[in-house]
Amino acid sequence: MGKKVVIIGAGVSGLSAGIYALQAGYSVEIYEKNKMPGGECAGWNRQGYHIDNCIHFLVGCNKDEQLYKMWENLGVLSDSLEIYREPYFYCMEMDGVTLHLWRNLEKARKEFLELAPEDNKELNLFFDCAKSLECIKPPCDVSIAHMNLIQFIKLGMSMKDANKAIKEYGKQSMEDFTNRFTNHYIRAIFKNYFNSNFIALSFVASYAFYTSNTAAIPQGGSVGLVSRMLAKFESLGGKLHLGVNIEKINIADKQVVSIIGNNGKVINSDNYIWCADSHSLFYDLIDEGYLDKNLRYMYENPEGYVSNTGYQVAFGIVTEADLNLPEGSIIFPCDEYDVAGETHNFCGMRVYDYDETLFPMGKRVIQCNVLQNAENYAYWFGLKDNKEKYNQEKQRIAEELRLRVEKKFPQLEGKLIVLGTYSPVTFTTWCNAHKGGYMSFNPQKGYKSKYVKSIIKGINNLYLASQWIQTGGGLPIAAASGKFAIDNMKSHR
Ligand SMILES: Cc1cc2nc3c(=O)[nH]c(=O)nc-3n(C[C@H](O)[C@H](O)[C@H](O)COP(=O)(O)OP(=O)(O)OC[C@H]3O[C@@H](n4cnc5c(N)ncnc54)[C@H](O)[C@@H]3O)c2cc1C
Repeated sequence: MGKKVVIIGAGVSGLSAGIYALQAGYSVEIYEKNKMPGGECAGWNRQGYHIDNCIHFLVGCNKDEQLYKMWENLGVLSDSLEIYREPYFYCMEMDGVTLHLWRNLEKARKEFLELAPEDNKELNLFFDCAKSLECIKPPCDVSIAHMNLIQFIKLGMSMKDANKAIKEYGKQSMEDFTNRFTNHYIRAIFKNYFNSNFIALSFVASYAFYTSNTAAIPQGGSVGLVSRMLAKFESLGGKLHLGVNIEKINIADKQVVSIIGNNGKVINSDNYIWCADSHSLFYDLIDEGYLDKNLRYMYENPEGYVSNTGYQVAFGIVTEADLNLPEGSIIFPCDEYDVAGETHNFCGMRVYDYDETLFPMGKRVIQCNVLQNAENYAYWFGLKDNKEKYNQEKQRIAEELRLRVEKKFPQLEGKLIVLGTYSPVTFTTWCNAHKGGYMSFNPQKGYKSKYVKSIIKGINNLYLASQWIQTGGGLPIAAASGKFAIDNMKSHR
């Protein structure tokens, strides 16, 4: 059995695959196109501030969970590491009314019921379903795509408490879900966080990650998470090559025989793990015929499998004064503003001040994120070659959002500086992400979750990892995909 593994991509899936391969006795080298590891799980220092791009919440922060053990094995979580648990998923302020999706589910239930007794039945159903969904955790032991019947039945049994929620919300969009309520404020808090086609069950399950306390933020944020993974990878003897974009894959006799980097370097190995965007592998580098049928279905039905992306702006707060700002994520109505041809009348913002190591009092950050979809991506993509116009547009929106944040929180007036603006195209440039997608496929109403195998039929020594192996995506799926690929490589050969 060949003992050398080459991994393409040093995001969370690539570093995870690297660690699991080293633990299985392989020698491992990772090739990454950027000058730093982490991929989408990144953070940047700007003007003395830190912009944490990724972790709003990491699932798997409860010690008794299988996921925690995976993170522990990857060097991400440990007994000694501080973990921040924000008090709520997000809150909404509107006309002087504040509603919180508290981590404490009963506290949230009370707050919502007091405000909207007329929605008693639907609200109780929502909170009961959220409670029941606490049993759902992204799988990290065996990939669903590779499960046998017994494993699949076992998984179903472990989620039996969730059946009612699945029946109630599994086929509903956020729009349908919102329409179940009559109270104006209740509708607003549900309507303005995710897009209207987002499947309601995923929203309720995301809230359940908070109420079960599995969702939290490890100290050091995104960059801290990645640097701990890298330290583990290197301590086991792994080697990382930065600044090498893999541009060609040579296949002969059902084997990858070499891959070629942008520097012309020919790289040979016994096994290869693709831990980068799966669209670029199957549509740019190897024959589309190798596509897994589920992955093909999702790419060919983009209306049913949307990948989330966004326009983001990060502001630095130029004072150390206590400004009495909300904790974590908040949404609020605001004057209309346009982004990529669409008009918005809500603003979503998040205060970054919870981790003294990243955001000391003098260097607190606020980020606003406007959800974008494939159509918005087309707008940004069309603009990107005209650098001046593209930058002007990013700056215009940053300015519009700054004014709205300052109107909402007058104590911030004149105290915000723009640190960085990101469009969906940023993620394509940064990670080769198809249509700027930074979370995997999001099944829309009427479309089912799909799972993708890490084995590629017709190529014996190339395996697939990354968040794209499963709908929903995110860090736990990315990390688990690395393990799945190595498990499959070991048993396949
Ligand atoms: C703004 C934002 C917020 C997010 N919030 C959360 C959150 O709160 N919780 C959560 O769980 N997840 C969140 N995510 C998603 C999470 O970041 C991703 O799911 C995860 O990082 C994906 O990891 P990956 O390894 O699959 O892919 P990537 O991170 O895309 O890694 C792939 C790597 O491969 C490299 N690469 C690509 N092509 C090549 C090539 N040809 N040659 C060499 N290298 C190549 C890329 O540069 C990249 O480093 C967020 C993402 C973003 C952007």
